[in-house]
Amino acid sequence: MKDLSAYSELEIIFHQFFTLKGIESFLHWDMSVNMPTGGAAARSEQLAILEEKIHSVVTSEQVGELLNESEISPPSNPWDRANLKEMRRYWKHAIALDSKLVKALSKSSSACQMVWRKACQNNDFGLVKDAFSELLILVREKAVTKGTYFGNSPYEALMGEFEPGATIKVVDKIFCELSNFLPELTEKVLFKQSVGKAPEIPIGPFDEKAQRKLALSMMERVGFDFEHGRLDKSLHPFCGGVSDDVRITTRYKQNDFLSGLMGVLHETGHAMYERGLPEEWRLQPVGQARGMAIHESQSLLIEMQVCRSIEFLSFAVPMMKTAFDSNGSAWTPNNFYRLQNKVSKSLIRVEADEVTYPLHVILRYQIEKALISGEMEGEELPTVWNEKMNNLLGVEPKNDREGCLQDIHWFNGAFGYFPTYTMGALAAAQIFQAACTAETVIKPKLSQGCFVPLMKWLRENIHSKGSFASTNEILTEASGSPIETKAFKLHLQQQYLE
Ligand SMILES: [Zn+2]
Repeated sequence: MKDLSAYSELEIIFHQFFTLKGIESFLHWDMSVNMPTGGAAARSEQLAILEEKIHSVVTSEQVGELLNESEISPPSNPWDRANLKEMRRYWKHAIALDSKLVKALSKSSSACQMVWRKACQNNDFGLVKDAFSELLILVREKAVTKGTYFGNSPYEALMGEFEPGATIKVVDKIFCELSNFLPELTEKVLFKQSVGKAPEIPIGPFDEKAQRKLALSMMERVGFDFEHGRLDKSLHPFCGGVSDDVRITTRYKQNDFLSGLMGVLHETGHAMYERGLPEEWRLQPVGQARGMAIHESQSLLIEMQVCRSIEFLSFAVPMMKTAFDSNGSAWTPNNFYRLQNKVSKSLIRVEADEVTYPLHVILRYQIEKALISGEMEGEELPTVWNEKMNNLLGVEPKNDREGCLQDIHWFNGAFGYFPTYTMGALAAAQIFQAACTAETVIKPKLSQGCFVPLMKWLRENIHSKGSFASTNEILTEASGSPIETKAFKLHLQQQYLE
C-alpha cells in the first residue's frame, strides 16, 4: 500500500493547489467586476503573493519525490493513473520556473492590465507602451526557460500552458488550410450578400435592465444553474470562478443588444463545460478542463453552431421581441438569421463573424510569435498591427482602441492563447455535427428552445471526460477524428452560401 499512500499524499497537495487557484480566480473576477481603481496596488500584491504560494505548493521537493514513488507502482484505477499523469504535467510546468520569476510576472501583468484599462479609455497605446515592454521581457524569459526545460520552442512552451500538446507544426498546418480557403469564401459570401436584401437592424435603444433579463432567461434555457453561478458586467466578457460557482460576465451596448446577448451565450457555453466536469474529481488535475481548445469549442458550439442557426432563432426572436416590447419588420427569425450571419471585413475580433474570425486569430498568432522570438518589439505593436490588418482583412484601424488595444490577453501576459479560439471553432463544428448525427432529436428540440438532448450528449461525450484523455483523443472518440478543418469548412459553406 506504500505506493498508494504516496499518491494519496499527492491528492491532498493538489487539492490544496486547486483550492488556492480557485481563490485566485475570484480575486481576478473581483478585479474585473467590482474593484475600484484605487485597489489596484493592493490587489496586485495579493495576487503576487498568492501566486508565489500556489507555485510553492507544487514545486516543493516532496512533490517530486512523491511523483517518482507513485510512478514506480502506479494506481490501478485508470482515472487515478490519468490523474497521476496530469500531476506530473502540472509539476513540470511549475518546476520549470523559479518563484522569483513567477512573482515578477504576476506583478508586472497586474500592473500592465491596469494601465491597459487607462490606455483603452484614452485610446492611446503610448500610455501602456512601457508597462507592456517590461511585461514582454518577463514573458520571453518564461518562454525561453520553459522551452528549454520541455525541449520545444519558446512559443510552443507558452501555447502548452493553454493547450497541452499544441505544436507550431499543427497550428501552422491548420492556419495554412484556412488562409487558403477563407479569403475566397469571404468574397463569395460578400457577393451573395450584396445581391440579396440587406438585413434590417432592430432599432434601439435597448434598456440595459431588459437586456440583462433577456440574457438571464436565455442562460436558463441553455441549462445554466444559478445556484452555482452568476452573471455580471465587465469591460471584456469572460468566464471565471470555479466549477461549483461559475462567474460569467458580459457588456451591454445600448443600441445593439445582440452583442451583449451573444457574449452571454458564448460564456454560458464555457460555464456549462465547467459545470459538467467530473464532480468526483473536482479539485484534482484530471477533473480540470482539458485545455482551451475544448473549452472554446463549447462556447462556440452554443454561440455559433446553435444560437445563430435558423432553428434556434425561430424560437428566440419572439422572446427577444417581447423582452424589448418591440415590433416591426426587423423582428423575424429570417431577418435575424441574416443579421447574425452577416459577414464583413471588420476591425474587432470579438464582434467578427465566423468566416473572417480565423483571420483575426492568424494576425495575432503571427504577431505574438514575432514578439516572443524577439523579431518584433512591444513598441512596434500599433504599426505592425495596422499593416497586418490591412493585408489580411483589407481594413485599417483609425485608432488603437480599434486596433492593438482591443484584447486584454497580451496586456495580461497571456501569449499563445489566441490559436485556441480557432482550434475551438474547428472542434465546435466537428462536435456539433457528431452530436446531431448521433441524436437526431437535438435540432428539432433546439427550435423549441430546449437544450436538454444537446447538453446530455455534450455532458456524456465531452464535459465528463475532464482531462482523462488528450484533446485529440476526446475529439476522436466523440467525432471520429482529431482536430481538422473539414467539418468547419462544411459548416461555413452550408451556413453562408446555401
Ligand atoms: Zn471563449
